[in-house]
Amino acid sequence: MSRASSELDPSLAARLHPLARLPAEWATVLARLGEPSYRGQQVFRWLHARGVFDPAAMTDLSRNLRGTLAGMDIEVPGRVASVHRSQDDTRKLLVELADGARIECVLIPMGRDPNADEVDADAAVIDDEDGDDEVLVPSNRRTTLCVSTQYGCAMGCTFCASGKMGLGRGLDPAEIVQQVLLARRQLGAGEVLRNLVFMGMGEPLHHYDATARALRLLTHPDGLGFSPRRITVSTVGLVPGIRRLGEDFAGKVGLAVSIHAPDDATRERLVPINRRYPIAELMACLRAYPLPRRRRITVEYTLVAGVNDSAGQAQELIRLLRGIRVKVNLIPMNPIPGSPWGVPADARVAEFRDLLVRAGYSAFVRRRHGDDVAGACGQLAIHGRSVVAAWPSKQEPGG
Ligand code: SF4
Repeated sequence: MSRASSELDPSLAARLHPLARLPAEWATVLARLGEPSYRGQQVFRWLHARGVFDPAAMTDLSRNLRGTLAGMDIEVPGRVASVHRSQDDTRKLLVELADGARIECVLIPMGRDPNADEVDADAAVIDDEDGDDEVLVPSNRRTTLCVSTQYGCAMGCTFCASGKMGLGRGLDPAEIVQQVLLARRQLGAGEVLRNLVFMGMGEPLHHYDATARALRLLTHPDGLGFSPRRITVSTVGLVPGIRRLGEDFAGKVGLAVSIHAPDDATRERLVPINRRYPIAELMACLRAYPLPRRRRITVEYTLVAGVNDSAGQAQELIRLLRGIRVKVNLIPMNPIPGSPWGVPADARVAEFRDLLVRAGYSAFVRRRHGDDVAGACGQLAIHGRSVVAAWPSKQEPGG
C-alpha cells in the first residue's frame, strides 16, 4: 500500500467521491471545516460499515457536522435497476450509474455441490486453508459477490460476452465499492457476504488505480473490513498489473489468472492480449509473485470444445505450471449465442481434470451459477453502450 502518502493530499481528498475517501482523507476534508480528525473515521464508518448515507441518521456526529454533510450531497453513485434471481439463488444485480451506464454484479451462494468433483465458483477461488470462522456460518448461507470494475472490457477475449461489447469506461472506486453496499441490501436473513471476486465486467488490472483504491476501501478495518484473502482479483494476464498488485498488497489479495491455453498460438485465439504478454513472460511473473505461505494462485482455464480441451493440452498445462503453487479451475465454456466456440463434452472435461489431479494438482470443475440469468463467467455484458430499457432475455448474448 505504498501510495498511502499521496492519499493525504487535501485537494485530491476533496475531489474524490465521498464514498471513495479513506478515513484519513475524510479527516483532511473535515479539518478544513474545523472538525477534529477522529470525525473522519466516524463518517467513514457510517458510510462503509453501516451503509448509512443520510447524515441525519449519523447520530454520533454533531448537529453542525450533520448539516454540513447534508450539503455535500453524499449518496451512493448508482441504483439497482433490477434484480434477477436464478433457480440456484444466484442474484444478478443490474446497477445503473449516474451517467446511465449499466453494470452488473452477481451474488453467488456458496453451497457445496454434492458432486465432489465440482465446486462453486467462489469455493474454488477462495483459499480456505487458513479459514477462521468457517464453522460459524453454514456454507449454504455464505455468499460471494462478483464485482465489475469496468463498463465493458477492452481485452476482447473471444469467448466472453463482456469482451464483445468493448470498453465503455472504467468505474470510479466509489462505483466499484457501491456494488458491495448495494448487494449487501439484497442478502436474505442469516446470509453472510463472505467473499468478493473481481471477476465481473472488465479487467481489474487494466484499471489498476481504481481497483487498488477499491481494495483499500473494502479492506479498511473501519469500513467493511474484508480480509484481503477473502478478495480475489482476476486478470487475463496483464503482467505489469500483476507485479503492482503483488507489491502494493504484499501478495495478500487473492490472484486468479486466466490461462485458457498452454501454448501461445492457441491462447492468442482466445485471449488476444497474449500477443503483448506471452505465456513465458506471464509464467515468469507468476513465479515471482510474493505469494504468502499456504496461499495459491488460482489458474482459470475455460475449456472450449476442440480448441484447448485435449489430453495433450492437459499434459502441456501440467508442464507449464510445474513449480508454481496453483489450483486450477476448469470452466466448461458457457454458451454464448453467436459465438463460434463450442461447449466441451462432459467426458472430455472429466478427463482433463483427472489428468491434472493425477499430476498432483488441485483441479476443480466450476459449477455454473446463474446460467438462466446469464450471470455465469463470460456472460456478463449488456447490449450496446446505451441504457437498455429492459433486461435482456436469456436468449440474448451476454445477458
Ligand atoms: S474474459 Fe475478462 S478480460 Fe477477457 S474480455 Fe471478458 S471481462 Fe475482459
